[in-house]
Amino acid sequence: MGTISIPSVEDLPRTADMVIVGGGVIGVATAFWAGRAGMRVVCLERRDGLGTLTTAASEECFRAQFSEPDNIRMMKASIGFFERFAEETGLDDCDLGLRQQGYLFLSKAEDGLEALGRRVALQRQRGLDDVELLDGAQVRKRFPFVAGQVTAATFRARDGWLSTHALTYNLARATAEGRFCLRTEATGLTSDAQGVAAVETNRGPIATRCAVLASGPYAGVWAARCGVQVPVVAVRRHKAIITGYPEIPADAPMTIDDANGAYWRPETGGGALGWALPEPESTPSDAVPTDWTFPAVVLEAVSELTPFWGEIAERLRRDDVFLSAGQYPETPDANPIIDACAALPGLYLNVGYGGHGIMASPEGGRMLVDLVLGRGEDECRPFRLERFGRSESRRSESMVI
Ligand SMILES: Cc1cc2nc3c(=O)[nH]c(=O)nc-3n(C[C@H](O)[C@H](O)[C@H](O)COP(=O)(O)OP(=O)(O)OC[C@H]3O[C@@H](n4cnc5c(N)ncnc54)[C@H](O)[C@@H]3O)c2cc1C
Repeated sequence: MGTISIPSVEDLPRTADMVIVGGGVIGVATAFWAGRAGMRVVCLERRDGLGTLTTAASEECFRAQFSEPDNIRMMKASIGFFERFAEETGLDDCDLGLRQQGYLFLSKAEDGLEALGRRVALQRQRGLDDVELLDGAQVRKRFPFVAGQVTAATFRARDGWLSTHALTYNLARATAEGRFCLRTEATGLTSDAQGVAAVETNRGPIATRCAVLASGPYAGVWAARCGVQVPVVAVRRHKAIITGYPEIPADAPMTIDDANGAYWRPETGGGALGWALPEPESTPSDAVPTDWTFPAVVLEAVSELTPFWGEIAERLRRDDVFLSAGQYPETPDANPIIDACAALPGLYLNVGYGGHGIMASPEGGRMLVDLVLGRGEDECRPFRLERFGRSESRRSESMVI
């Protein structure tokens, strides 16, 4: 079982097979697989709790409806892990809050059915064979809240959302021999001729030959301090939760405007809305400021294809809105970096998950640990750091949650 505590200086383990910098969902998932491989793992989190930064700011959703084969494979594997959580972790007493109510992409384009049909065909070719293609009449029959101008939709019933708190804490609990050290900040690395020799912390050093960077939006800044260039920047993203309106259907799927990416899903007692609007990169921060124009902007956007939101917007009171913001840890192509750092042997990177870190966490953690154990190189190839030095690195088509 994993231990989660605020260690005293004396309590901090002095050696480890693997030290992970960051106790968000990615660091904790990595710890879980390292523990399963028999490694003595220490995960450092400088905040008061695990999964309390970007992980807690997220919409908590997961989907396999991607087009890129590497993303399809990764998310299918992760969703399978969520579905088998009790069996994978040995914890039969935990509720992951799994809601597989599906993901619904809506199109109002004239050629929506053909365009979405091509995507579904591509997904089928790439091993995702359970996405349904619906025309306008079919989608309105299944989901009566959808507007008349919607011409087509895709729906996958096994997509959905979960509790990121339950995911993170239960993965930590299930980590064999894992130590999760809260209020413990990794301040740097010591290296010798072999590579990484220790991770320095505010409670003293931990000797290790394997350090994993999983510090979310801080990854680029932290790596730079160690002399390594890792192209991860912090980009603000909002979430608006609206409660108190019975017309928000509790059984709806995650519903996305395929053209602009604005989305909403039911949340206990209401709905959670979001939209990845263009934002400049910002300084990584634990206190991301919110912009109160966001709820109005996102409500207007989702109202077009799901008009009940327009009616709610007219009656909305500020007290009904809970607005928060976090930062995507973003790479130039919006896909993660899962790699060994060539510049410093013993340093591994599990960073840059952008808007997909919750859904990718189990499989991303497994892949990184396999790489450490010398058996995951092929799978990790698409996620190598060096792709950013090459001209073929391009922005992912998957900018939507
Ligand atoms: C509004 C919003 C909505 C989102 N919705 C979704 C979604 O629906 N589905 C999805 O899959 N993803 C979503 N995401 C993205 C997802 O939240 C992230 O990809 C994921 O949480 C990244 O996890 P992480 O562990 O890398 O980062 P974090 O959760 O930020 O964890 C990194 C941790 O490292 C710690 N740390 C940093 N530096 C140090 C140090 N020096 N020493 C010790 N600890 C350190 C930090 O305190 C932090 O806890 C969303 C993000 C936002 C902002």
